[in-house]
Amino acid sequence: MRIGVLALQGDFHEHLLMLRQAGADTAEVRLPADLDGLDGLIIPGGESTTIGKLAVAYHLMEPLRRFAADRAVWGTCAGAIFLSQDARRDQPLLGLMQMRVIRNAFGRQVESFETDLTVPGLPLKDGKEIPFHAVFIRAPLIETVWGDCQALVTLPDGRIVAARQGKLLATSFHPELTGDDRFHRYFMEMASSK
Ligand code: GLN
Repeated sequence: MRIGVLALQGDFHEHLLMLRQAGADTAEVRLPADLDGLDGLIIPGGESTTIGKLAVAYHLMEPLRRFAADRAVWGTCAGAIFLSQDARRDQPLLGLMQMRVIRNAFGRQVESFETDLTVPGLPLKDGKEIPFHAVFIRAPLIETVWGDCQALVTLPDGRIVAARQGKLLATSFHPELTGDDRFHRYFMEMASSK
């Protein structure tokens, strides 16, 4: 199992560490050729406009879309925005997931927060279902999903913070920052399924 992390900007290093902890081989992706031989790709948190502009500059937009046609891709936070079809403003988007996001939906950096969430389908921890501790940093909200895209995780008030569309996964929060590798293992299972 070899998983790449888009390493243009943002917290790609934390994802690489979590993937290794979960037992995957890893690769940093900066150029189209870096996608060769990967089973899946993570697009990290950071600044979605910057990630998009760099992806355009490095001629990665079409190679990323082709990669996602048959392999697993997971976007966290800015990466989720970059995967979406609609971010309600003009910025380069892969446009792969049938969802509309609201950037910075929870306010400014000081309004960042952490909470425990129920995530269906996560691997058990010590044989038990345990809530996942989610970190939100200037996070987007997934306003709506349609077509094949489905809400995976919601806040207690029903707002969507994770969605899945086949082998594509989007989370508003940052599972790479908590030391809990269950979300990374969940993604590796997605990447290994045919
Ligand atoms: N606020 C950033 C954006 O809109 C995302 C923040 C993050 O990835 N932690 O791109």
